[in-house]
Amino acid sequence: MYRALIDRLEQDGTLRLEEYLTLIQHRESVREYAAQRAVAVRQQYYGNTVYIRGLIEFTNYCQNNCYYCGLRKDNTALERYRLSVEDIIDCADTGYSLGFRTFVIQGGEDAYYSDEMLCEAVSNIKRRHPDCAVTLSLGERSTESYRRLKEAGADRYLLRHETANPVHYKRLHPPAMHFENRLRCINDLKALGYQVGIGFMVGSPFQTEKDLAGELLFIKNIAPQMVGIGPFISHKDTPFKHFENGSAELTTFLLSLIRLTLPSVLLPATTALGTIDPLGREKGIAAGANVLMPNLSPVGVRKKYMLYDNKICTGEEAAQCIVCLKKRIAKTGCEIVTDKGDYKHEV
Ligand code: SAH
Ligand code: SF4
Repeated sequence: MYRALIDRLEQDGTLRLEEYLTLIQHRESVREYAAQRAVAVRQQYYGNTVYIRGLIEFTNYCQNNCYYCGLRKDNTALERYRLSVEDIIDCADTGYSLGFRTFVIQGGEDAYYSDEMLCEAVSNIKRRHPDCAVTLSLGERSTESYRRLKEAGADRYLLRHETANPVHYKRLHPPAMHFENRLRCINDLKALGYQVGIGFMVGSPFQTEKDLAGELLFIKNIAPQMVGIGPFISHKDTPFKHFENGSAELTTFLLSLIRLTLPSVLLPATTALGTIDPLGREKGIAAGANVLMPNLSPVGVRKKYMLYDNKICTGEEAAQCIVCLKKRIAKTGCEIVTDKGDYKHEV
């Protein structure tokens, strides 16, 4: 019976809320089948290729106070850092020589960086590496700022919505942050022609299985080019320090459902998944993911970009990470490629 639901999801690309919920509740009996179908669908669009994106974590200053995040403004235990525009460009140069063709410039919401500075970083990277894509992940900004960054050459933008339930959103964020603004940002980014990535944490405090079913409908409705999900992992210096972590098994099952809901979506097996389970990223690929986002930040700052406790790969050079990931991914029957890894439109 649950298999029939998976088959219908594969055929129609969507289910009703209650049907998604049924699958989530009975995931143990259907997870293997879901993963098998998700991998088959991924193969149709992307073969056995896995794309890599070089993550440049350029600042850990943040003006926000998201209750879950180690970079939140009120975390005084964190030593803060900022990379210069030159440092950011250097990271991309290093990444290029290692085979990266997409760079993700990510940071806390840090007003120190003006639009001019960020545009300079983007346009320089694009000029030096015209065969590469630049992805930004800078949080909520004005429409005008998103427009200028796009004009400077940015191709893609990652902004997780964090939860599709506005009431839940209020429980994860302080009153100064608004779900409506998050949606405004996502709509702006789409309208400006960015390839857009949204996403949420799995097992975040107060999240219900029904919320997760709602996530799948929300994602279907927005139809983004990328979806980033990872388990919530508690951070010792945040208000959520006593909450339980999300699980790898639920995350990988949701990866399969997302793949079946949006067949050609770009879907990372995230660092958070690799942190909660030593084989998490491999399991993510085996469940239908097709993207990895290794760290390109200078090793000296990596330990300071602690979104959550025990984050992996904070001690290795990027070159070492690539060797390690290539070996790991080969075991799943997939292959890491040197490619910009653009979104493929559904046929
Ligand atoms: N400031 C930007 C980008 C950095 S945060 C932004 O908020 O969009 C990037 C992502 O890290 C967030 O979207 C959130 O989903 C994730 N994250 C933050 N704290 C986390 C935690 N404790 N566990 C798992 N993921 C977390
Ligand atoms: Fe800042 Fe992003 Fe962390 Fe929120 S999730 S505190 S916006 S870095």
